[in-house]
This record gives sequence, C-alpha cells and structure tokens, in this order.
Amino acid sequence: MSKPFVYITRKLPESVIEAFESVFKIEMWPEEEVPVERGVLLEKVQHADALITMLSDQVNHEIFEKQTNLKVVANLAVGYDNIDLNAAKEAGVVVTNTPDVLTDTTADLTFGLLLATARRLMEAERYVKNNSWENWAPLLMAGQDVHHKTIGIVGMGRIGETVAKRATGFEMEILYHNRSRKREAEEKIGATYVGFEELLKRSDFVVCLAPLTEETKGMFNKEAFERMKSRAIFINASRGALVDEEALYDAIHQNVIAGAGLDVFKNEPISADHPLLTLEQVVATPHIGSASEETRKTMMTLCLDNIQHVLNGKEAKTPVGAG
Ligand code: NAP
Repeated sequence: MSKPFVYITRKLPESVIEAFESVFKIEMWPEEEVPVERGVLLEKVQHADALITMLSDQVNHEIFEKQTNLKVVANLAVGYDNIDLNAAKEAGVVVTNTPDVLTDTTADLTFGLLLATARRLMEAERYVKNNSWENWAPLLMAGQDVHHKTIGIVGMGRIGETVAKRATGFEMEILYHNRSRKREAEEKIGATYVGFEELLKRSDFVVCLAPLTEETKGMFNKEAFERMKSRAIFINASRGALVDEEALYDAIHQNVIAGAGLDVFKNEPISADHPLLTLEQVVATPHIGSASEETRKTMMTLCLDNIQHVLNGKEAKTPVGAG
C-alpha cells in the first residue's frame, strides 16, 4: 500500500521531518520565508491525505472544495483564525492546532515586549548604535517602571495566565478579563476579574491575548484607547485584527496613551512605512511569539503526530473546534 501523502506549505527542517519519512510521503513548499503559491496549494490538496499549514495560509472553501482525500489539516499555530472550521467540518476534515507547547515561549516574548516598551530598550539601543550617546543625563531614555504596576490581561487563557505568572515576579497587581471567570487563576495567582472597561481604566499595561473571532475583531478601538490611562502601554501578542491600527496610531500620536509593543499586525508582513513604525513609542516584532528554536520544532512534531493519529484512525492529540 502506498504511503499517505502529506503536503507542508513551508520548508521545515529535515531533522524534524526525517522521523516521519518512513510512514508518510512528505512534500514541502521549498521556501522557508516565502509562502506557498496559491495555485500550488490548490493542486497539492487534490492528492493530499494531510496538510501542514501556516497561519499565513487561508484554508477556506476554495481549498476544501478541491480536496478528494484530505483527512486532516494541522495548523502550525495555536490560533486557527486562518482556517474555515465550518468548511472543514462539511468536508469531514479534522483540524488541529498546537496549544500548550508554545505557551511559555509566547508568554516570555509578551513580557519581553512589555519590558522593552516600558523601558524604551529599542529606542535606547538605536541611540547607542547611532552614536548619539555623548553624555550621561538624569532623564536620558527614562522610561516607566514595570514593577508594582497594574497589568490588565484581556484573554486570560493558557498564555495570558502564564504572562500573569511572570507578572507576579514583578509584584504587579493583576487584572484580567475573559467572557468567563477563571477562579483557579484567581486563587493561584491572585488575579482579579474585572469588566473590559474597568480593566482599561485601571491598568498601566493592557495586554491582549484573546483569540481573533467575530466578537474580538477590532475590540481595541478609539473608545478603548480613550478609556486607558494617558501613561498606559498597550501590548498585543495575539492577532493584529483585534486592533483598529489607525485608532492606535492616533492614540499614541496624540498622547492619549504612552506607547505600544506589537508582535502582530492586521496585514502581515508590514512594511517599514507602516504609520505605527514611525512612532518612537512603538516596539514592533515580526510575529515571533512562539519563535524559539526548541518550541517551533516541538510545534512541527506535534503537527506530524496529530496527522499520524488521524491517519491511523485515532483521535487527534489536539483537535480544534467543529473540525
Ligand atoms: P486560550 O487558552 O484559548 O486563551 C484565550 C483566552 O481568551 C481564553 O481565556 C478566553 O476565555 C479568552 N477570550 C475568548 N474570547 C474572548 C472575548 N470575546 N473577550 C475576552 N476574552 C476572550 O488560547 P492561548 O493558547 O492562550 O492563545 C491565545 C491567542 O494568542 C491565540 O488565539 C493566538 O491568536 C495568540 N498567539 C499568538 C502568538 C504569537 O506568535 N504572537 C503565539 C501563540 C498564540 P473565555 O472563553 O472565557 O472568554
């Protein structure tokens, strides 16, 4: 019997793939940094038993209509807003993601962004490298304290709770907002549940870690920024579309809030002329929340494990939604 065909939409390291080559016929898009051409993906899906997809691939009706034997789509991310779960369900295709294995790594990056923005680390580094540092001065590159301040986490899930744990080390007051209360986190970490508006009003750092859904799209808009403190810093490590970027630009530009640390943007990748990048008070990273070598390799292996489970007729290890 021929081996099941797995198509991967980006070049992944041979060291991860090789363990599965005896059981699958694996083909990859040959580029690491350039996304798969749509036409190629539409052709490959016609023969594929399984796909490994990236968050930059739109896996929608067009893809599911072309498949003939597809059983599983393994998304190399915990977020799955790039996948049409209803279309997958209609096609009888299981969708999987990579929860838990990236939680600590993404929490580290999120807290790093918070520190970098509050303490103006990138601006300070540019200053030194540009040869601008001529004298010590009492308020040179003076930023804001993080310790003992109030952090407000919107989306207190796996990553949110892990960011909150980091915040306890800085002796911060922790507020959070979800649709539902997490009493366990309240007891373990001493976090306080508040409404969205109260969180915006009371937090020195507002951290967005809720998933992108119809409900959360654009929730950080002009009104939300206006409710924040004028010294507040906004951190987004979730998905760019939760934020009205024009409103965020105006809020920082007009000193309605103090700054932002952003790992994600509405239309990625962004170019250097993106208005938010013209603001000194914005620290930007290229969607690298889970990007440690160890974690990315673990995520890749989890995708392949999920595929193996489904193709062997077992329950996926980490299935999502209605798939
Ligand atoms: P998770 O455990 O599912 O947590 C998401 C949290 O958001 C839940 O606690 C959920 O609580 C809350 N939530 C959902 N809808 C909400 C709403 N309308 N208003 C307020 N809260 C809401 O997910 P996770 O593993 O922590 O990941 C969170 C997100 O981070 C992912 O969806 C992904 O977009 C993003 N992410 C980004 C990177 C990166 O590279 N930057 C890496 C990993 C993940 P309720 O259900 O009670 O509302």
